[in-house]
Amino acid sequence: MKSFIYASRAQRVVFGPGSLAGLAAELDTLGLRRALVLCTPPQRAQAERVAALLGAARVAGIFDQAVMHVPIEIARQAQRTARELGADCAVAVGGGSTIGLGKAIALDSGLPVIAVPTTYAGSEMTPIYGITEAGLKKTGKDDRVLPRSVVYDPELSLSLPVTMSVTSGINAIAHAAEGLYSVEGNPIMDLMAQEGIRALAQALPAIHAGAGGEDLLQARGDALYGAWLCGTVLGSVGMALHHKLCHTLGGSFNLPHAEVHTVVLPQALAYNAAAAPQAMARIAAALGAPDAAAGVFDLAHALGAPTALRDIGMREEDLDRACDIALQTPYPNPRPLERVALRALLQNAYEGKRP
Ligand code: NAD
Repeated sequence: MKSFIYASRAQRVVFGPGSLAGLAAELDTLGLRRALVLCTPPQRAQAERVAALLGAARVAGIFDQAVMHVPIEIARQAQRTARELGADCAVAVGGGSTIGLGKAIALDSGLPVIAVPTTYAGSEMTPIYGITEAGLKKTGKDDRVLPRSVVYDPELSLSLPVTMSVTSGINAIAHAAEGLYSVEGNPIMDLMAQEGIRALAQALPAIHAGAGGEDLLQARGDALYGAWLCGTVLGSVGMALHHKLCHTLGGSFNLPHAEVHTVVLPQALAYNAAAAPQAMARIAAALGAPDAAAGVFDLAHALGAPTALRDIGMREEDLDRACDIALQTPYPNPRPLERVALRALLQNAYEGKRP
């Protein structure tokens, strides 16, 4: 039998349609009085709605400049704003970019973060932060950045465009898939991972098919539930080759986060298939497909998501350099990293070859 270590984290999760209405009570429960509400420029209206629900007395202000990968200048500006307005917590309303900005404030000041996720990226469930300085994204782990409370309200994800919903959902599936063959894996995370993949694999086609009314809210709720489980796996066990490749491609070649995950995952699973048969069987079962790698590829393809790096801005002449970077400080992986095989993986990802 496999030995394992399991550690749980202190975090509240409030889940359900309409749960946003309980955000003020959530702050009160945590003894927090003045929130700086964070969002991206396009999500300003959602942040204003959140601020209105909290009531003027609980809101220090709205900071609406969150952008992808948390540039240090924006992080400093947000940290300064939080100080100047006397905020005692940050309420991050948005996806991984906005929650990442909340984490940057927490890292600097220790202010607690309350997350209200509107995508499926999963950052709200992890103590992982990332800040970009001079074009380099530095990441690290610190329990101070783990959101104290997470309010998941599927109604807020209704406005997430379908294409983004699909790639964001497959981004979440990637956390769970790699969790299933992580060297730090444990039985609790295996259960969460398999269930998270199942929930997303069932919900995404319904969202893509344009389900309406109650069916859409059910599908959005199922997808968010899957995202919660997959995010928990990401926050609990170490990731492997797939995440290393995505950090390389996203960070060094400026490719869009969720799309890169969507394109690379089938290829990374194919690379690891023979070295992690039990994980692959669980992924395939959760997808309801005969094969894990082909199953993810077919899901992405059927839902109109990109399957080739060349379609999301990668240049073929950069593949060798990407391979070199991916081989530096590799993450533990079930199959050792072999240059020739890794280069072939990247070529397949570039061309969008079905595994
Ligand atoms: P994002 O937060 O950048 O959001 C993408 C776009 O969608 C933004 O313009 C945003 O405003 C918009 N959007 C989000 N939700 C919406 C909604 N419901 N309706 C309408 N528009 C909406 O994208 P993301 O994929 O969630 O996050 C990516 C970033 O998060 C990356 O920088 C990645 O590295 C980071 N991340 C970090 C962790 C971690 O654990 N630290 C985990 C996952 C992702």
